[in-house]
Amino acid sequence: MEHVSPSVEPALILDSVMAGKRITEAEALILAQHADLHDLGIAARTVRNRLNDLQRVSYVVDRNVNYTNICQINCSFCAFHVQPSSSNGYVLTKEELRRKVEETKSVGGTGLLIQGGVHPGLSWDFYLDLVRFLNHELGIWVHGFSPIEIRKMAELSGQSLRKTLEDLRDAGLGSLPGGGAEILVDRIRRKISPKKGDVAAWLEVMETAHEIGMMTTGTMMFGIGESFSDRIEHLRVLREQQDRAIQRGGIGRHTAFAAWPFQAGHTPWEGKILKPTDVEYLRTISIARIYLDNFHHIQSSWVTMGHKVGQLALHYGCDDMGSLMIEENVVSSAGTSYSVNRAEMDRMIRSADFDPWQRDNIYRPVLAEGH
Ligand code: SF4
Repeated sequence: MEHVSPSVEPALILDSVMAGKRITEAEALILAQHADLHDLGIAARTVRNRLNDLQRVSYVVDRNVNYTNICQINCSFCAFHVQPSSSNGYVLTKEELRRKVEETKSVGGTGLLIQGGVHPGLSWDFYLDLVRFLNHELGIWVHGFSPIEIRKMAELSGQSLRKTLEDLRDAGLGSLPGGGAEILVDRIRRKISPKKGDVAAWLEVMETAHEIGMMTTGTMMFGIGESFSDRIEHLRVLREQQDRAIQRGGIGRHTAFAAWPFQAGHTPWEGKILKPTDVEYLRTISIARIYLDNFHHIQSSWVTMGHKVGQLALHYGCDDMGSLMIEENVVSSAGTSYSVNRAEMDRMIRSADFDPWQRDNIYRPVLAEGH
């Protein structure tokens, strides 16, 4: 699917969005290429309001914990990982993990978003023990692991994906953050991360998680040489997966969609690729809100886009500010990092004309003091 001239007027497509109709991939591409940004925002906000409280914007107080930075996958866009032989490699100890959990809880945090590196030297027991320690012993929700890590664990355990995920769930894994989706188009994946697995491999992990009743997030990292039609292809496979999950009838499904632009700093792509503009981000997130009509929540990526664009995104279809980001290693490794405390988050949401509410990792309300 490449650049198409508008065989249908964008205004007619937006009228059908306002009337509650689902749009096709071809229509999404016409909107992406030809619709007025302001009109897109109005339509995205309409879809957002159909699914969510008009005034409320949620966020989660959690912490990104990268239990290891050692990784054998070597994605070309990743400034975070180091080689197994590196003297800068680490695996967090239980004491370090305990301290991070205590700090998180002390500010009203409810979860850890935990991801590696795919470390070649860790065992299946290490992962089970890690999850058990965090959830059963320290009592915090574990929102963890990307599909490539889950596949590595299945290989280590010698079990099916399903049994691997069931064992992790029984050990205390609560939900999957959906990392590593990047662009769900094999041509792009082969170029940027040839060892990370194809689209089918990513989808299979998420689908299996849904089948056993786990909640996940759909994500997209864009601006790494793909076209807008590649982005829409990415949205297509996510929407179809979510349709299957909803049809299955269980609680396993994607709770939300999050998209952020690739940060090229300190990667081989630095200076070779232009970061998507703020307008392109708003256009992308509006199209996602309109197209993903079966996703309840869309997150604003203020961590990569900054506070002002993060606030603006709330007027372009987002209903969630993602995480308070007590700790963030991956984006800051690429030279971009914004963080706030709870009062600033509340202020950011209120000054964008919405009311803040705290949620947990699967969008249940958290009753914190003063909220
Ligand atoms: S993105 Fe993840 S899998 Fe890829 S190199 Fe970085 S840590 Fe490894």
